[in-house]
Amino acid sequence: MTAPNTLEDVYRVFDSIVPDKYGCHQWPRAAVIGYYCKVSIEMQSYKVHRLALERKLGRPIRSGFECRHACDCKSCVNPEHLEEGTHQENMEDRALRYPESYDHFKKPKHPAHSQKLKDWSNSPENKERLRQASLARWEKHRERQGISQ
Ligand SMILES: [Zn+2]
Repeated sequence: MTAPNTLEDVYRVFDSIVPDKYGCHQWPRAAVIGYYCKVSIEMQSYKVHRLALERKLGRPIRSGFECRHACDCKSCVNPEHLEEGTHQENMEDRALRYPESYDHFKKPKHPAHSQKLKDWSNSPENKERLRQASLARWEKHRERQGISQ
């Protein structure tokens, strides 16, 4: 698959996604499931879930608002799982949904990996392996939380 580089390309990718068992549409180029995914269009970087919501709304997300995931999986671009909301609402939702694991989400990302690890994870086979592993981790997480669609 070549990298999408127009909004129409991104929409075509959206329309080709097969939902996972939770009804989530995982962005196919997500290296890690559960993290925001970006795409670049004409040298500008966009978060794909925001593009999916704006397509559904037919207008840009209002300033001061965020794109919220009802499914809480940030790599999901299913417009049905996306809504416009405030940061405050987002935080309240998350605290309600994951009272014990709330801190987990606030942890900073893993410190910079060594170059060796970067090279390893940049190879296509290993990328796919990491993606599958993160998909499995994410499914387990949601099973534990009792989230279903
Ligand atoms: Zn979803």
